[in-house]
Parts: sequence; structure tokens; C-alpha cells
Amino acid sequence: MKKLLKSQKGSTLVIFGLSAVVLFGFVALVADIGMMTLHRAKLSNAVDAAALAGAQELIYNAENAPGRAAEYFRENGYADSPIDVAIDEDQTAIRVTASHEVNFGLARVLGFSSENVQATVKGKVLPVIAVNSGTRPFAIQDQELEFGAQYTLKRGGGNGSGGNYGGIALGGNGAKIYLNNIVEGYNERLMVGDYVQTEPGNMSGPTQDGVNQLINQCTHTPRCTFDHFEPDCPRVITVIIVDTLDVNGRSTVQITGFASFFLEGGVGSGNKSEVTGRFIKTVASGEVSDTQNDYGLYGVRLME
Ligand SMILES: [Zn+2]
Repeated sequence: MKKLLKSQKGSTLVIFGLSAVVLFGFVALVADIGMMTLHRAKLSNAVDAAALAGAQELIYNAENAPGRAAEYFRENGYADSPIDVAIDEDQTAIRVTASHEVNFGLARVLGFSSENVQATVKGKVLPVIAVNSGTRPFAIQDQELEFGAQYTLKRGGGNGSGGNYGGIALGGNGAKIYLNNIVEGYNERLMVGDYVQTEPGNMSGPTQDGVNQLINQCTHTPRCTFDHFEPDCPRVITVIIVDTLDVNGRSTVQITGFASFFLEGGVGSGNKSEVTGRFIKTVASGEVSDTQNDYGLYGVRLME
């Protein structure tokens, strides 16, 4: 009897020992699968950041795009992992593919040592169809824009049409709101197809005041010029493109697009209350569309 008890006790121990190994192995596997999921998400974020940065660089200087993408990937914690960057022939899209070897922890006891996680994404540059905020209260009429050329964003006294000089009333009318929209930008979203009201009158005082304030907000050293400016400079402004400005008094016009300009100084008063800017290609925060006309203002869409 004693002998029998002893042997049963022994098999219980053996069974317990076996199930502990199975259980431990199972827990190890679950833990490592969880860890792999985290690694996959982290790699995917880094690849997204790389594609966004690379795609934005396509707009400014396509040659630098692969380098910029790789730089963002490394800065997101993958200094030693392989990355592949491919640019589309028309230089409007960038594909970033990367992998990273993850060493298993506990699952090593089951014979799994490491696994490669992979991520790939395409960043496509598309024209902006909606701008989230920051639009300035100036409008130009729908036209073909030439990179680097100078455009009048607000006409001087006497050069208006039907009392309109290019000013737009955003979020209300009057000099105070107009001035604030020049300095701070309109803080609501605007979209192609939206109707906006013109802000008639020369508005000489607030125009001069607002533009001067905006230009003084550039704290870059050296001070930005059209030939050399930082993309985040306050002098880089987004204005509205409308179907027509040939309207009488306070009128409703329709947004057909958005374009960005490097704001030039020297705004005078009275007849010389003219705002000019040089047309630039840049990036905006907003919604993009593959059917929108290209007015040089872009965003990036990430796709598989
Ligand atoms: Zn600046």
C-alpha cells in the first residue's frame, strides 16, 4: 500500500511537472506574440513617419526624399534596421518598406529565437481640397499659377472691381475680424465648393497693420526671403482661389482651391495698400483629393 501511494504521488508530480512546462510555454508564447504585435505597430508607425517626411520632401526637393525618409526611420528608433525607399516615376509618391528582427524572450524555451517584422506604406502627394485652419482673408481669381511669379493678393486703392479688392470675410465681416484673419489666419476649416463672402473696401489700415505684424513674426535667422525661407515661416501664407472676383459689393463667391505664397512686404497705405506674394509649392494640413485641381498646395495620403 505504501509502495502504491508512493508511486501515485510520483506520477502526480510528473504530471504536474509536465503541465507546468506546457503552461509556462503557453504563457511564454502569448507574451511573445503580444510583444511581436507591439513591435509590428512600432515599426509601422516609424514607416508611416518616414513616408510622410519623404513625401513632403518630394514637393520641395525630390532628390532629397529618400534620404529624408531614411532619416525619419532611423530617428524613430531603427538605427540599424534595413529600409527600402522607392520613388514613383512622376515623383508624386514614395514607398517605404522596412523590416526589423525581434528577438524572442520567453518563447526561446520552445525553440523560437527571433522573427522578422515587416511594414510597408505608400505616401502619395495630392492637392489639398480642404484646409483645416490658418487661411488668410485674401482671394485670387482662378488661374494658372506660375512658380516663383509675383501675384497681387489684395489690390491697392482705385484698382478694385465693384468695390472689391481681394479681401474675403471669414467668420464675420469688418476691419477687426479681417485684421485678425491676416495676423492669425482663419481658425476654421474651409473646403473647395464652400461659398464665402467678399470683404469690400480698400481696408488700407488693417491691411498694412496686419501684413506688417505677420512679417515681423518671422524670427528665423537670417530673416526669410523668397529665395531662402523656412517652410514654417509666418510669411508663408495660404489664400483662397475663387471662381470670380468680378462681383459688386459684398457678394458670395465660391472656393475652387487654395494656394500658398511667400508674403512680400512694403504694403503702403491708401492707393498703395497692395499685398503681393510669390507663388510657392508647399504642404498644408488638411484633406487631399485625387480629383482636385493642382494649385501647388499639397498634403500626403498614406496608403497600403
Ligand atoms: Zn521666416
